[in-house]
Amino acid sequence: MASGVLAFAESVGGKLKKSAFEMASAGRKLAEGLGGPFSMFVIGAGPGEAAATLGRHGVTKVLTASDPALERYSSDGYSLALAAAAAVADPAILLLASSAMGKDLGPALAARLGCGIITDAVDFSVTGGKLAARRPVYAGKVRALAEPASCPVVLSLRPNIFEPAAENGGTAEVVPVAVDLSGDRIRAVVTAIMAPEVRKVDLTEADIIVSGGRGMKGPEHFHLVEDLAAALGGEVGASRAVVDAGWRPHAEQVGQTGKTVSPKLYVACGISGAIQHLAGMSSAKCIVAVNKDPEAPIFKVADYGIVGDVFEVLPALAKAIREKKGA
Ligand SMILES: Cc1cc2nc3c(=O)[nH]c(=O)nc-3n(C[C@H](O)[C@H](O)[C@H](O)COP(=O)(O)OP(=O)(O)OC[C@H]3O[C@@H](n4cnc5c(N)ncnc54)[C@H](O)[C@@H]3O)c2cc1C
Repeated sequence: MASGVLAFAESVGGKLKKSAFEMASAGRKLAEGLGGPFSMFVIGAGPGEAAATLGRHGVTKVLTASDPALERYSSDGYSLALAAAAAVADPAILLLASSAMGKDLGPALAARLGCGIITDAVDFSVTGGKLAARRPVYAGKVRALAEPASCPVVLSLRPNIFEPAAENGGTAEVVPVAVDLSGDRIRAVVTAIMAPEVRKVDLTEADIIVSGGRGMKGPEHFHLVEDLAAALGGEVGASRAVVDAGWRPHAEQVGQTGKTVSPKLYVACGISGAIQHLAGMSSAKCIVAVNKDPEAPIFKVADYGIVGDVFEVLPALAKAIREKKGA
């Protein structure tokens, strides 16, 4: 009988993504609640190192699939591999991150297994062996409570919400999984990923984001946003208005048609707080808004609001932070 949790550990170029460690801690907590086993699954050219890393982070069993055809992501190949791993582990919950890959892979996997899916959950609980997950709907206006009607069920969790598993120096039992990729079972693969720019941290994984909106008045003033982000040790984001105007690259856009981010700190500078922007950042743990209009909707979701001019407030904040840090 299906029990426990099998979590997919996402990796890029053989390196585990931060979300893999978040799935490790969330998955273990889920499995404890369900009273079943917990294992993780890694795909790649040489998944041994990733499996060892997961072992050092407290995962005791790692299933692996290695095949040249799995070197590049494809919904067919990866969902076939995960279905093969599920046949071995027989989990009640198949867990993955609601990342760009997870948003493609989760539904493909659920369709392949003929089971249900709960996507983009930001919280979950297990009571009496039953899962209940909370997920934002209507662009973040409402949180829906979802309970699975199938077993197994695919569950995807929003990245950067759950605490990553800490290192404990353990080791994992490694179980290779055979995946039948013969014939034309893989119908399309990702052939190239065009990186728009060199970025230290993906916005979806950033702990601190300082975003600028139309209130910055022009691209020539974004150095103020960049400087505050640098003082805080964070990344730069943007509203769609400034991306559409060509002031900032699309990779920085936060919101419904941009990135969904959950940093520890989100500073919105000259951003009105349209519902489509809130959809991408309202799950940030602490929101600071700087806006000269006290009625701006962004203040409704802000933990701290500064009613003021970005051209005065941003340099003053950056200076104060540097002084506090002694830099
Ligand atoms: C289908 C759809 C999808 C969308 N997707 C997204 C999305 O993904 N992300 C997104 O952001 N938007 C999205 N939008 C657009 C969204 O509706 C808003 O138009 C956009 O977010 C507004 O950007 P903004 O806040 O920078 O600009 P504005 O709404 O023009 O706000 C500028 C703010 O700056 C303040 N300001 C002006 N000068 C100063 C100053 N000197 N100091 C301090 N404050 C100042 C103003 O008071 C104002 O509140 C979408 C819209 C649609 C229809």
